[in-house]
Parts: sequence; C-alpha cells; structure tokens
Amino acid sequence: MKTPVIAAFFLAAALACGESYAGACSVSPRHALLLHGGFLDYEEEVAPAHRELLQRLLAAGNARLAAGGSALDAVTEAIAAMEDSGLLDAGKGSIVNTEGFTETDASLMEGVSGRSGAVAAMQRLQNPIRAARLVMDRSKHVLFVGATGEATLQKLGAAVIDPATYYQEYVPPPKPVGRKHGTVGAAALDRCGHLAAGTSTGGWPGKLPGRVGDSPIIGASTYADARVALSATGVGEYFIKRAATRDIAMRVQYLGQPLQAATDHVIKNLIGREDKAEGAVIALGADGEMVVSSNGYGILWGWVGTGRPARVGTREPGPSGPDASVDNPTR
Ligand code: ASP
Repeated sequence: MKTPVIAAFFLAAALACGESYAGACSVSPRHALLLHGGFLDYEEEVAPAHRELLQRLLAAGNARLAAGGSALDAVTEAIAAMEDSGLLDAGKGSIVNTEGFTETDASLMEGVSGRSGAVAAMQRLQNPIRAARLVMDRSKHVLFVGATGEATLQKLGAAVIDPATYYQEYVPPPKPVGRKHGTVGAAALDRCGHLAAGTSTGGWPGKLPGRVGDSPIIGASTYADARVALSATGVGEYFIKRAATRDIAMRVQYLGQPLQAATDHVIKNLIGREDKAEGAVIALGADGEMVVSSNGYGILWGWVGTGRPARVGTREPGPSGPDASVDNPTR
C-alpha cells in the first residue's frame, strides 16, 4: 500500500529538483547564469575569441534554464565547454607545472541539497568537471585525487585522453603583460529557485607537481547553498586558508550581509589586504542578483538573466549589476 505513495514522493522530489528531468523546473519565473574565465591583474580587453565563447555559452545556458533545466546541468555544461575550448586555463587549455606536465582540479556543488563532487591532480581526464559530476552522482564520496582516483573515475565512466597529444599548453607571458587568464567557473539559478556552482582549472603558473589548489575544495573556491552560489579564482592557497567562498556564504547567512558587501570584504579586505594575495569571485544570489568582486583589475565574466541581454566584461559591474556595467565592446 505504501510503495506507490513513497514512489510518488520521490518522483515529485526528483521533478522538483529538476535532476534528469529536462523542463521540470517552472515554479520560479527567474533564472540566471554567471560565468567566469579567470582573475585579471591588469587592464585588459575582452579578446574576441573569449567574447564569442562566453556569448555562445550564455545563449546555450539561457535556453537550457528558460526551458526548465537545472542549475547543476547549466553549470556542468558551461564549464565543460570552457574546458573543451582550449582558450582558458582549464581542461584542454590547462597550464603545465614546473616539471612540464598538466594536473587538473575541478569541483561542483548543488545548493539545495549540498551534494558535491570534486577531482584533484588529474592527468588524463578529458573533462574534470564531468568527472566531478560523476563523483557527485555515482559515488558516496566527494573528492577523488591522483592516478588511483582517476582509475576509479574511469571505471565510473569518465572519458580520458592522452596527455602527450591533448593539452594545448600555454606559457603565461611575463608582466607587465600579465598572466593569461584563467581558471573557469560558473554559477546558475534555475526555475526551481535552486542554485549551483562549479570551478575548473589547470592551476596557478609555477605550481609544483602534486600541488592542489582551491578549485577542487568545496568552501574554498566553489560553494552553493540556498542563498548564494560562488566560484573563485586567484592564488588558491589563500582561498583554502580563508575558506573563502564558505566565509562569504556564511556572512550572508549568519550576519545578513548583502552579497556585494560579503564578497568585497573577503576578496578585497581579507585576501587582498591582509593576505596580499590576488583573487576574484563571482556570486549569484537566489533572487538572480550577480556580484563580481576582484582585488585586481577584474575578472573575465559573462552574465545572462531572465529577459535581459547577455553581458560580457572584465571590470566589476558594481552594485547595480550587469545593466550598469561597461560591456567592454572595444576595451
Ligand atoms: N585558483 C587557481 C589555483 O590556485 C588558479 C586560478 O584561479 O587562476 O589553482
């Protein structure tokens, strides 16, 4: 007697979450997608290839979310596409470490459930973010590392590549030109009202073999709950020590700070001034509010929300959000 009731409950719960049920989310009229392509420590224009990439992904993500797709899927697909592009320091475009080989890190978190998945120091994963999703969906664990973790993930279905031919290594030019950006990340709000966030990287230039940064650490670079979804970029060691994205989320939850004030405090005052470390974060609130905070020049970002045109920029848009921002069409 009870079985159909229980089955109906779980089906309703699955539909409400939008997981694996395209078009299921419709309770909220609002959705939004915020992407980033890494921290900028000097004034920089949006390169045409980066603009084209972000605009294409914003259009695809916007269509997915408008049709009721889940925030988790929107984040996973946008990051996977940035990994595949070879244009940024993630997936195919990942940098090499001091020994000349690539190790990638990624993580993913769903705000409504707290479900998380992450991978670190991976040498053969085609899409670290898809592997993080496998961790979340197909294991009872949160974080897999190194060669043995990679072997387990391959058994769970992760696609692997030959590192000798796959990676498009880039060597960041010396200052004042600055380092090529960057780590990639995404935050999304779906029409269930749910948030998700993710981050993927090849790491910081000059890293030693086996070094793991903040990008695969839940609460350091990636965090999502019912109020906010966050993805950070910058010198990962400081984001780990500060539990930076978790700190921002807790400032919002415990102190009731506005999202802009919480992000600015952690990025500009704590990491920027006290730790004197470079970094930036993107944040999306449950009302679709977007915040970009950097203690350098800015961050490559793109945003799209319900009924509003997609924006791509490098400067912080400020408290008024993307409509008040410079779209940087030529700079
Ligand atoms: N946070 C990344 C790391 O430390 C690097 C970056 O965002 O550029 O691995």
